[in-house]
Amino acid sequence: MPILNADLHCHSVVSDGTLTPEALAQRAAANGVQLWALTDHDEVGGQHRAAAAAKAQGMKYLTGTEISVTFANETVHIVGLGFDPDDGQLRDGLRATRGGRGARAMEMADQLAAAGIKGAYEGALKYVGNPELISRTHFARFLVETGVCRETGEVFRRYLTEGHPGFVPHRWAALKDAVRWIHEAGGVAVIAHPARYRLTANEEYALFTEFKAHGGLGVEVVTGSHTAAEYLRYAEAAREFGLVASRGSDFHSPDESHTDLGRLPDLPGELTPVWEMLADRIR
Ligand code: AMP
Ligand code: MN
Ligand code: MN
Ligand code: MN
Repeated sequence: MPILNADLHCHSVVSDGTLTPEALAQRAAANGVQLWALTDHDEVGGQHRAAAAAKAQGMKYLTGTEISVTFANETVHIVGLGFDPDDGQLRDGLRATRGGRGARAMEMADQLAAAGIKGAYEGALKYVGNPELISRTHFARFLVETGVCRETGEVFRRYLTEGHPGFVPHRWAALKDAVRWIHEAGGVAVIAHPARYRLTANEEYALFTEFKAHGGLGVEVVTGSHTAAEYLRYAEAAREFGLVASRGSDFHSPDESHTDLGRLPDLPGELTPVWEMLADRIR
């Protein structure tokens, strides 16, 4: 298969991105993306719009989502690609995964208030495009807007993460369930940005092993959240565990994201791209 500019990871206003599915499709096409997937957190509500927008821009499309999972007391993200977006079990699973976000956000705001930052819940809500999907990113935008922090990276160093004000531990989906929902909806499960997790070497080995045992098939190797050294490290992991490789910017916003849609190095040549096993799902 010829080398393809595939971008299989990004976010719209349906989760914590700032652009609509249509604006993302336009930007992706302008950047030369040939195969695109919108992967909103715990949501498939933007899938039909994204597929139609991709078609209007002359891009191929794969359905996508990014499921929040709790593994070894850490949050791990599993990307699903090429599934039926109307699958009932997947939609129910995602709805359940989203379910605790409202109460969590209120607790986050209470902690921030105790640290002297008032009105964070209402402030974050102004940035929310989907009432079922209030996330830490929306709080981060409020903390930047009000001048508490200069940029979102600083927010996550000083707030909203373990040991800092605004961190509320949360139990997301089980790894096994997330992989099963994706598979039974006809898609392929992919470990998102593996270098971003605070896992020990043993825990990371367990993640890859259990993911495979549950039927997971892929891993993101080239992503906006990996360094060049991490591309090599996870190319090796893909070979070791017999996983196909994915590529995606994880683009959220023109103002916040360092990696733009489609602007990534190619996958290392010796890896099998995830889209090869999804050829009959590409629209
Ligand atoms: P949540 O699902 O509410 O826990 O929010 C997770 C989101 O926060 C991620 O998908 C990222 O968009 C954002 N995020 C987490 N850590 C960072 C960071 N260090 N810098 C920028 N954004 C981050
Ligand atoms: Mn996000
Ligand atoms: Mn993620
Ligand atoms: Mn993401």
